[in-house]
Amino acid sequence: MDNITEVYKNIYRAVIPLRGNPLKSINIFIIKGEDKTLIVDTGFNTEEVRSCTDDYIEKLNIDLNKTIVFITHLHSDHTGLTGYFTEKGAKIYMPSLDAEIMDDMRKSNGKYWKRIQDFAHIQGLGVDGLRIEDHPGFRFRTRDSFDFVAKNPGDEISLGDFNFKVISLSGHTPGMVGLYDKDKSILFCGDHILYKITSNIQFWGFDFGDSLGNYLKNLKKVKELNIKYLYGSHRNRIRDANKRIDEIFLHHDKRLKEAYSALENGPLTPRDVTVRMKWDITAKTWEEFPKSQKWFAVGEAHAHLEHLRTLGKVDYIDKNKDGVLYYFIKK
Ligand SMILES: [Zn+2]
Repeated sequence: MDNITEVYKNIYRAVIPLRGNPLKSINIFIIKGEDKTLIVDTGFNTEEVRSCTDDYIEKLNIDLNKTIVFITHLHSDHTGLTGYFTEKGAKIYMPSLDAEIMDDMRKSNGKYWKRIQDFAHIQGLGVDGLRIEDHPGFRFRTRDSFDFVAKNPGDEISLGDFNFKVISLSGHTPGMVGLYDKDKSILFCGDHILYKITSNIQFWGFDFGDSLGNYLKNLKKVKELNIKYLYGSHRNRIRDANKRIDEIFLHHDKRLKEAYSALENGPLTPRDVTVRMKWDITAKTWEEFPKSQKWFAVGEAHAHLEHLRTLGKVDYIDKNKDGVLYYFIKK
């Protein structure tokens, strides 16, 4: 039972491996009410994860017919087993916006993947010859559809003596949410705040706005809640939530400065800004960068550029009238 620990009275954490993923593992939280159970997120849809899931279901004596699986956001390490749980009688709760995007992501010819390829073009990634098949989100997408009950910011879920409110933690994905118990000062925050690693913030398209700006706004919101018991989806437990939040603010400040100074010698595409930024990865050059990571790194650099644009510090032009965007410092 060493991968299952009681982290708070009636709240258990099961650490489930994410084989081949830099995140290494996911924390699944199980909240036991009097007869109902609430499970936060699921893990990938693999044989190994299914067997770890069966294991905690048995050890914690969970009746899936009286269980709600609450999905924080659309990523496949959080949603992979939704089909598996519904087949066994559990109900799925999920925020509508991420459910809508996810439904489109299931289809190989969906709008979402077309957009990702359009972004690669405007970001200047065309020169790297990436194929959509190199995108991990495409390769590992959840293919099954599932029934769910929409739970959006403001909605409440009660079980035992827990009273959770759904709160928006948009940024990491457009619709990510957390579960907040005010009286107990507990927050299940999905991938919003993680121990030692920082949440990947992507460019989601101009229609979703400034994703890094939204992320930072929600970071400030959580800081104001002064959370005592913060439960993130990956890595260790964070003992001092506000200290970790301050570290994340500093991290993005540094990254914003890095992206800004990359533009000091003239306009660059998001791809060329990415090449000039530092990345915590073993590849020494851009050429050595794994293709799968190129998508994410450029998306992240682009999110920082878009935040600088919202702040009025930079802007972009379509220099060669071919749709590729060049960001420049506003004088
Ligand atoms: Zn995620």
